[in-house]
Amino acid sequence: MDPADTEHRFRRNGQDLRVRVVEVNGDGERGHLLLFGAVADGCLVRVHSRCLYGEALRSQDCDCGPELDKALDLIQAAGSGVLVYLEQEGRGAGLIAKALGYRESERSGADTFASYEALGYPADARTYVTTARALADLGLRSVQLLTNNPAKVQALRQEGLRVTAVPLRTRALSERARDYLETKRTRRKHWIPTDAAPWALDEPGGMSPAADEPPAADPVVITPGENFRPRPGPGPAPDLIGA
Ligand SMILES: [Zn+2]
Repeated sequence: MDPADTEHRFRRNGQDLRVRVVEVNGDGERGHLLLFGAVADGCLVRVHSRCLYGEALRSQDCDCGPELDKALDLIQAAGSGVLVYLEQEGRGAGLIAKALGYRESERSGADTFASYEALGYPADARTYVTTARALADLGLRSVQLLTNNPAKVQALRQEGLRVTAVPLRTRALSERARDYLETKRTRRKHWIPTDAAPWALDEPGGMSPAADEPPAADPVVITPGENFRPRPGPGPAPDLIGA
């Protein structure tokens, strides 16, 4: 289907944006690309895995809801961007595996990655190959990726996209969510600061460099989320897939 045929108005936080929808369907990667505004090289992109608890139910056990909110806030402020929403509940293992993992963590005190492994699931089953190709199919050659996850940056680069990582700083919703952030930092090398309470990062002056930022030789450019200034509108850049 021509994405233009799906275009409609979308209202959030009192602001209207045009949105188009493209399906993604590959091995382990089912979902959609939501194209907000005019999509051009260098636009903001969020690759987000579904989390029923954190997003729809607003649970305070993880940071998925706040991350999604913040990504959409930044895309709206920029006037354009892409949200890739993937049906990758439970890091690709599904909601039952996630429930079993939570139950195991509650019982043993282990983090959720260890619990997945104890139950015979991969700690993280997600891939982003089809997603990267779908972004390239839009005509994109470079993106600003809203993520704390180096695996996502790496995956998109492997498919030939130039990626600038823009970390998402969010306030942890509870002690448990803070522990989960810490687990993602230590176990998966997510770019989450260590020398300041992550849940205080939205406070003025609370920003601090991520301990696990890539070395300077790495072409990834880390722009702290709080200091990030969206580009002024799409300007003269043509919409890559036509409006
Ligand atoms: Zn979550």
